[in-house]
Amino acid sequence: MARDTSPQCKQCRREGQKLFLKGSRCFTDKCGVERRSYPPGEHGRGRMRQSEYRVQLREKQKARRYYQVLEKQFRSYYDKASGQEGVTGENLLRLLECRFDNVLVRLGFAASRRQARQLVRHGHWTINGRRVNIPSYQVKPADIIAIKAGSASAGIVRNATELTSGVPAWLQADHDSLTAKILRQPERGEISAPVDEQLIVELYSK
Ligand code: SF4
Repeated sequence: MARDTSPQCKQCRREGQKLFLKGSRCFTDKCGVERRSYPPGEHGRGRMRQSEYRVQLREKQKARRYYQVLEKQFRSYYDKASGQEGVTGENLLRLLECRFDNVLVRLGFAASRRQARQLVRHGHWTINGRRVNIPSYQVKPADIIAIKAGSASAGIVRNATELTSGVPAWLQADHDSLTAKILRQPERGEISAPVDEQLIVELYSK
């Protein structure tokens, strides 16, 4: 399965803000954005020309990097979102937010999307009693998420729960038994991604 393997701190520096891609390191003064708050590369500290297209493109790239999704898959989320009823930008964010790997991060069961993805790929989680090893799996209301019985990753998951300050209202998590329930779909106000989805819609509708 294809994935983005480029250095994560560089991705944050390119977008000019912390995207919290590395888990616990992101909360320390070793954070790449804290140490070098300018874009990577030879011309990183030069003047950057801002155009409407550039602003829209950067917003799309930021969303893609935040959710750790490659271009082709991101585009297919957009196509699906534009075919749904309602506001396309909100539909897009909802689809991204309901990815299984993202939900594990929101629940506090993984320190980063990359870690969540690896835990899912290695079969450490079940949904409604069945093993699910697809990070892009779309969770639905009433789904029950649980760590696989006897999983060797329980310690890693418990460490991750200590990093989390709270769980969004559309989710319910039990950090003792490492189980969770999807209560409903998230509202736009409950999606904390630092993204202006309207700019992405404008980019793709050109
Ligand atoms: Fe981004 Fe985390 Fe690296 Fe900071 S430490 S630049 S937030 S990935």
